[in-house]
Amino acid sequence: MSATTDPRIKSFIDVPSGHAFPIQNLPYGVFKRRDEEDHRARIGVAIGDWVLDLACLEARGFFDGPQLRGCKVFSQSTLNAFMALGRSAWTEARERISFLLREDTPLLRDDAGLREEAVLPAADLTMLLPATIGDYTDFYSSREHATNVGIMFRGKENALMPNWLHIPVGYHGRASSVVVSGTDFRRPMGQTKSDGAAAPTFGPSRLMDFEVEMGFFVGPGTELGETIPVERARDHVFGMVLLNDWSARDIQKWEYVPLGPFLGKNFCTTISPWVVTMDALEPFRCAGPAQDPAPLPYLRGAGDQAFDIRLDVYLEAEGLDEPHRLASSNFKTMYWNICQQLAHHTVGGCNVKPGDLMGSGTISGDTPDSRGSMLELSWRGTEPVQLPNGEQRKFLLDGDRVIMEGWCEGNGYRIGFGQASGKILPADD
Ligand code: MN
Repeated sequence: MSATTDPRIKSFIDVPSGHAFPIQNLPYGVFKRRDEEDHRARIGVAIGDWVLDLACLEARGFFDGPQLRGCKVFSQSTLNAFMALGRSAWTEARERISFLLREDTPLLRDDAGLREEAVLPAADLTMLLPATIGDYTDFYSSREHATNVGIMFRGKENALMPNWLHIPVGYHGRASSVVVSGTDFRRPMGQTKSDGAAAPTFGPSRLMDFEVEMGFFVGPGTELGETIPVERARDHVFGMVLLNDWSARDIQKWEYVPLGPFLGKNFCTTISPWVVTMDALEPFRCAGPAQDPAPLPYLRGAGDQAFDIRLDVYLEAEGLDEPHRLASSNFKTMYWNICQQLAHHTVGGCNVKPGDLMGSGTISGDTPDSRGSMLELSWRGTEPVQLPNGEQRKFLLDGDRVIMEGWCEGNGYRIGFGQASGKILPADD
């Protein structure tokens, strides 16, 4: 256990027990102060219901260690420059921030003026995307999800495609439409063709869906032609967020052969604003599923590469008194891990850049209540989801808000991811 994840450390800032952001977490995000004239985006760390303004501390010389001195990474409006620095700089920053927030460190605790300037109520801030996302890739790494979808579309015998147990299957997604939690979007228009119809029609998607996923941000990048070996992949992963890969199933179904998802996926992808670092997640590292057949050597990594992250999905809708939990899943069930995904992504020489986002793929477990999409929960609409007010849902309606939450628990504290939330507005028709 490192000093920063020690369950015994406490902050002078009061953090209620079970809160997503105790001193052991320290996730990074980008925010704007609503009251500020220049509306400049700033980098901060969440602690309880507060945000520590790192630009403010950096300007006062608080980050003077060997890796961070003179770097000015926290005076930027995105985390890309900090992500690019690599693990030793991330650890140095984390140890420094943890020290400054500790109950027995007087530097900030006893300086009322500095606290006023640098410790801000989270409720007064607007969160922005944490990074400029150059590229976004989405994998398809949950065996249970791939099997469920396979059974629905191809039948039980051919559920998993022959490549699935050998390749971390993925596709290149659209970075421009990745939005931060709280951003609502319009139901997409597109081409669909119903099963019996002779020709496609154009109109609003009728089969709107969510996909509960985790995303990770790439830290140090690579040059074109360079690869990231599986055993070094950890050094290239900055941290993780919740991700909702909104999907229009009817558009997807008509368009996806032979080149895969396009307009059924590219209209919106929601991520949570706080990036939880791999240092904070380290105590929750665990074994993933056994891989049989053994992957090819370039995908064979040593050690536990899964993380025990509980994921809950809620529906907030008109007519419901409170958000209704649709599903509860866990990231640790993923068949392909993030190191294998990154090794595979780069094995052909594709370069990656700091701030690139990689989605895990829908995370479904092996029980009906752990299915990570409406497609699976309602089994393609054949088993509608019952809501507490008597209504049913096969797919998502206009006005529906999907809220994802995630956390690791143990050691007497919780490492939370906050929320990834978004609402579907009526199509612009
Ligand atoms: Mn997906």
